[in-house]
Amino acid sequence: MLNQLTISELSARLARREVSAREAMQSCLERIARVDGKIHAFISHDAEDALAQADAADQWLARQGGKNAGPDGGRPLLGIPIAIKDVLAVKNQPLNCGSKILDHFISPYDATVVEKLRAAGVIVFGRLNMDEFAMGSSTENSAFGVTHNPWDLARIPGGSSGGSAAAVAADECLAALGSDTGGSIRQPAALCGCVGLKPTYGRVSRYGLVAFASSLDQVGSFTKDARDAAILLGALAGHDPRDSTSVPQPAPDYAARLTGEIKGLKLGLPREYLVGGLDAEVKAAVEAAVKKFQELGAEVVEISLPHTDYAVAVYYIVATAEASANLARFDGIRYGLRVDSVDPTELYRRTRGAGFGAEVKRRIILGAYVLSSGYYDAYYLRAQKVRTLIRGDFLKAFESVDAIVTPTTPTAAFKVGEKSDDPLQMYLSDIFTISCNLAGTCGLSVPCGFTRNPKLPIGLQLLGRPFGEETLLNLAWAFEQNTAWHREKPPL
Ligand code: GLN
Repeated sequence: MLNQLTISELSARLARREVSAREAMQSCLERIARVDGKIHAFISHDAEDALAQADAADQWLARQGGKNAGPDGGRPLLGIPIAIKDVLAVKNQPLNCGSKILDHFISPYDATVVEKLRAAGVIVFGRLNMDEFAMGSSTENSAFGVTHNPWDLARIPGGSSGGSAAAVAADECLAALGSDTGGSIRQPAALCGCVGLKPTYGRVSRYGLVAFASSLDQVGSFTKDARDAAILLGALAGHDPRDSTSVPQPAPDYAARLTGEIKGLKLGLPREYLVGGLDAEVKAAVEAAVKKFQELGAEVVEISLPHTDYAVAVYYIVATAEASANLARFDGIRYGLRVDSVDPTELYRRTRGAGFGAEVKRRIILGAYVLSSGYYDAYYLRAQKVRTLIRGDFLKAFESVDAIVTPTTPTAAFKVGEKSDDPLQMYLSDIFTISCNLAGTCGLSVPCGFTRNPKLPIGLQLLGRPFGEETLLNLAWAFEQNTAWHREKPPL
């Protein structure tokens, strides 16, 4: 079935003109009709618009007679159905960020990443469910309902990009875009069994990504293998004059540089990550993966990231502070929902009271508190200083290793409802992913095994140097050439 293919497989078949983009799109739509009632990865999708884009791709292919397409041709993404997290602007499509406060808001423009996908010939379709404003680790904080894990419908898919991970894992699309502020790509990718890539801060434009915590947010991908992640990053990366934090550094051709040769690479195993709270099966899977890398010729050394213990605390100060400022714009005047009153203060109060969910309110209150006079120095300023120390830990480690290996999450997917009443427990699900955002470096999660009973995916996290995506992709690709975890499908 075409919806089960990877990007490179479908691309090759499109270039050979064995199948059409319309057929591929249709098989995704049929899959959605069959399974999404149970999973609820999509908030909405516009089938007609998707098929019209597919037809345009088919016309281009017909004009070219199949030339200049395919994974090694000029347009590897042409005719590939890719779905989008509800936090990225797609022109003329709803943009809700999983929130009621953006009720009926239609995006007037395309995010830069969407523009780039369109230029590459991608079929950009669907709005994928997420925790409201990307705040959460389970996709239970969405105004549009919970998304379920395709491997076990009683469990969460991770978050905040739970819809993106579930849709890719369930073969409802070939790949998806998401955003990662503290783990929102890598954690759900791990829990659903796909490849999740969070590029280095500044590698991909954030223009058209609704801001949660601007100094941490980054757009990235969910794919079925590492090669697809490389193809997609090649299309997404690059400087954007509309995002002043995007770097003017040119992006390499990531897919062309996948050699699978990792002999002599040095991997660091942080001693702080393989302790307390780590599930025994997750630990065993990660250790087996480390052994595999050694067999493939990589050298593994123990390293230390001594400020790891402070990462979650620092994140929940910095991220909430930035969120409290970023979310001030949703006041009932300019966007979405308005609960009217003649008194403007009352209008703001009522609109925000009705429009935001509990977790978002908790973050805004926390963020306003840590920024308030009298507490700013004690919390925000101190957190910024510790953030610098955390970044320092990574930069120091990368003086002696090429990449860092850790579990992506401490446990496999937990049950729906299991942690929703305990914010602190929920926050701790991101313990291994958060430091990477604070440091501004890149990270990737690749499937590395399953728990036994029930059978749930386990993710291996690879962390890289700033702009070291190439190394991570090559490591993950080499791993995939020698394992079959990424090929397993959920029993839907
Ligand atoms: N789970 C983390 C949070 O709730 C990270 C979310 C994200 O990366 N967007 O903030």
